Amino acid sequence: MNEYDSELITTILTDAGYTVTAALDEAEIVLLNTCAVRENAHRKVFGHIHEMRHAHKDKPLLFGILGCMAENLKEDLLKDKNLDIAFIAGPDSYRKLPDIIHEALGQQSQPYAITLDNIETYDGIYPTRKSGINAWLAVMRGCNNFCTFCVVPYTRGRERSRTLESIKDEVKDLVAHGCRQVTLLGQNVNSYHCQGIDFADLINEIAAVKGLSRIRFTSPHPKDFSEKLLTTIADNPKVCKHLHFPLQSGSTRILKKMNRSYTKEGFLAHIAKIRNICPQMALSTDIIVGFPTETDDDFADTVDVMQQVQFDSAFIFKYSPRKGTLAQKKYPDDISEEIKTARIVQLNQLQKKISLAKNQAYVGRQQDILIEDISKNLTRGRTDSHKMVSLPGKPEHRPGQVITVTITQASPHALKAGNE
Ligand code: SAH
Ligand code: SF4
Repeated sequence: MNEYDSELITTILTDAGYTVTAALDEAEIVLLNTCAVRENAHRKVFGHIHEMRHAHKDKPLLFGILGCMAENLKEDLLKDKNLDIAFIAGPDSYRKLPDIIHEALGQQSQPYAITLDNIETYDGIYPTRKSGINAWLAVMRGCNNFCTFCVVPYTRGRERSRTLESIKDEVKDLVAHGCRQVTLLGQNVNSYHCQGIDFADLINEIAAVKGLSRIRFTSPHPKDFSEKLLTTIADNPKVCKHLHFPLQSGSTRILKKMNRSYTKEGFLAHIAKIRNICPQMALSTDIIVGFPTETDDDFADTVDVMQQVQFDSAFIFKYSPRKGTLAQKKYPDDISEEIKTARIVQLNQLQKKISLAKNQAYVGRQQDILIEDISKNLTRGRTDSHKMVSLPGKPEHRPGQVITVTITQASPHALKAGNE
């Protein structure tokens, strides 16, 4: 979502007469579009600012912090003398950026814009996209779920969806410019609804756009995952058979404390339904270890769900308290760093084995891959199930082509194919 937002910001600023450069030597202003979802993300931003200042000691650079950290830490960021930030802007304030930067350049004040806006969807602004084959496309913004660990509802505000018409127009424009795959984005993407159109309807409408090969989306929430959506994915050949389905924890007790609104059994029942209606669906997930009060038994439930479901891949995180969330206010962060580390290591090892076995099952099978990039002697693309495949390059390979290959090798994270 931040990559997409950075593309929106690029359009807003170039329209206002600014020139974007990736070379720090050429820059006067440095914008950091930030994430607040985990403590690690915060640390990276602070480290990055210090590094850049150090590398450019002699050049006065104006630093602006955008995105969720700005929204989360607000004026505290501006008050930090060490950081010396010139301005901040939250995720709903990017239209104001040209004015904010103008004011900051005057150096009279440290301007900020962090008001959340219940209707801002940046409709009508086409992001300046870098890659030609895949395009990120936000169809909704914000989240109403308030999982107790999560800062997103506070930094990105309430849910709002774009109209079908504006999304379709953008997809048509993208295809006309060479894009072959769209990845629909939303913090809670399957709760998309606008003027009687739900997420399943939206997918079918987008699939009808001629010239588009593939549709992906992320991230759905299990609670809004309807049978209608599942059959839409299963029946529509353009919709990729890969689902990111965040578990967070396998313990019903912890899920309740997280306010995830499903139980261990409920999650497993969802998976059974998915496998029944769409057996070829690849599954990935997000898991948090060390949520407050998580016991060995709770953790064993997470291991159990992972063993039962056999996800293709998993992003596993240590819990970190986020400012303003219910969990931070209500539950002391009582699981030691040592236990969090032991649990994350155990889950990563388990997942690595499962991912390898899942990928090995592809060896000898034919797969259609959408070519994403071509370097000297190597062509890379993804299967419908989102596995990265590399194969020896051929002169006739072009980004955006769908080619059929036979998988010859597998590792936990990727596949290789031979020469056809
Ligand atoms: N909307 C998505 C998640 C978006 S945040 C969903 O509902 O699943 C991406 C992931 O970051 C989450 O799935 C969660 O696993 C992780 N995460 C969020 N807050 C966290 C926290 N306080 N500590 C550790 N991980 C967190
Ligand atoms: Fe955060 Fe996702 Fe829960 Fe929304 S649904 S509060 S974005 S974890």
